[in-house]
Amino acid sequence: MSGEQDARDSIVAVMRALDARGLNRGTSGNVSVRWKDGMLITPSGVVPDELTSESIVFVDGNGKVSQGGFRPSSEWQMHLGVYARRPDANGVVHCHARYSTILACAGREIPSLHYMVAVGGGATVPLAPYDTFGSDGLAQGVVDTLDGRRACLMANHGLIAIGPDLRFAFAIAEEIEEQAAVYCGTLMIGGPQLLDTDEMGRVLDAFSRYGQRADG
Ligand SMILES: [Zn+2]
Repeated sequence: MSGEQDARDSIVAVMRALDARGLNRGTSGNVSVRWKDGMLITPSGVVPDELTSESIVFVDGNGKVSQGGFRPSSEWQMHLGVYARRPDANGVVHCHARYSTILACAGREIPSLHYMVAVGGGATVPLAPYDTFGSDGLAQGVVDTLDGRRACLMANHGLIAIGPDLRFAFAIAEEIEEQAAVYCGTLMIGGPQLLDTDEMGRVLDAFSRYGQRADG
């Protein structure tokens, strides 16, 4: 990513891709990129079709917003919290993808039913505790749950994925939503046959040796 314009364009592209691929709807969901001491993040309440690179908001490391522009996404504290805690994260995708949200509303994490669950950075995709959208409590709970991971579900809310760049975070979100759909499917036919801890350990090790790929 060479400059600020590229970063802004990538945010618009990923928000549109989330919408086009059915991972998000309307004004829900938000996307950010680490920038300077803070981040560039989607504005509050703008649908993907109307999103432009100029409407992307810079929020500095103290949570201050540049004057005269759009308001940042209501979940800006969650995004800023990720960048503060996770030096390995340069992109964050949050969405209300359907199957991830179904599980999150049922109070379930994604268990180790498929080796690709490990793209989330662990043997399972954990569930962060519920708190009101846009609250400090939600931001804290999500950042704590993400400890060492690249994705988690958010109780009664949705999904968040992080990555070394925004495209990577998007790929993680897409894969975790696929795993959520597969898990929901298995629950209709008696539940999954889980992979054991040793096997998930081997997969996690292989993913780390192969450059932490998100595409298997
Ligand atoms: Zn949300």
